[in-house]
Amino acid sequence: MNDYDLLVVGSANADLVIGVERRPGPGETVLGSDLAVHPGGKGGNQAVAAARLGARTALLARVGDDAHGRLLLDAQRAAGVDTVGVLVGGAPTGVALITVDPSGDNSIVVSPGANGRLTPDDIRAAVSLFHASRVVSAQLEIPLETVVEVVRNLPPDSRFVLNPSPPRPLPTEVLAACDPLIVNEHEAKVLLGDARVSEEPEDWARLLLAKGPRSVVVTLGAAGALVASSDGVARVPSVKVEAVDTTGAGDAFTAALAWRLGAGEPLAEAAAYAARVGAVAVTRAGAQESYPTAAEVAAL
Ligand code: ATP
Repeated sequence: MNDYDLLVVGSANADLVIGVERRPGPGETVLGSDLAVHPGGKGGNQAVAAARLGARTALLARVGDDAHGRLLLDAQRAAGVDTVGVLVGGAPTGVALITVDPSGDNSIVVSPGANGRLTPDDIRAAVSLFHASRVVSAQLEIPLETVVEVVRNLPPDSRFVLNPSPPRPLPTEVLAACDPLIVNEHEAKVLLGDARVSEEPEDWARLLLAKGPRSVVVTLGAAGALVASSDGVARVPSVKVEAVDTTGAGDAFTAALAWRLGAGEPLAEAAAYAARVGAVAVTRAGAQESYPTAAEVAAL
């Protein structure tokens, strides 16, 4: 019996958002709206999304000993995430400084802060959490060497899910552990390392699978997703909704997929459920604020 359905290893950021009439150019100062502070970061988002669905979820992350760190911890706990694995201190909490203009275009500066200080030693010190978890998920907003250490500490009976975002080339050791590797179009193209790759997502999935993961999922926004494994490539139907804000939809999808896989569902079924979760998330503003409960997904 595992203590956790899902252990998320990753980033936690405070998203500091200001609306502006026009984003400033070099040397320019513009006045903006009141500041809005939202809990974010791909790790934090995935943990909240899973817990909201009812998964027993733990987060392994690092935040600063500051007000943003406390805000992020509060948001995790409010969603029901176990924060026993959240380390505090070493650098300021990661922040994303976001300016958004009336057309919705934004400029973002990310200071990884404490996320960049989540070390391989931190992973080794948390190994009991890995043994208590059915599924472990990670992203790439923490150092790659830390993700490598995650893979090295996976118990033989656990499952590893990776969303390589922001994308960069991955060691074979990491690729071989993914079941699945979850990518969107941009991530697929960076990992394939060839701008001339075909425009067919089925081809990206096959080429990625050949790099070593046990399975691959490609998310396609409003067009849904597709799954690929040794059983072949299959489309996951999209769900028609009125999209309001797609921020964090990929994190909700990944969290839901990881949870359902841990519950023993086949990949295609788990991905179909995750697509429903992503679809609900895009009908609401924000990232963590937009994530549905299982009852809301069932009502879709
Ligand atoms: P982000 O980086 O914005 O979090 P992403 O690019 O990683 O997102 P998407 O492919 O945009 O991920 O979204 C993940 C999943 O959410 C999709 O595979 C799909 O199932 C669902 N989804 C996203 N956008 C829509 C939409 N407009 N309508 C219906 N479902 C959607």
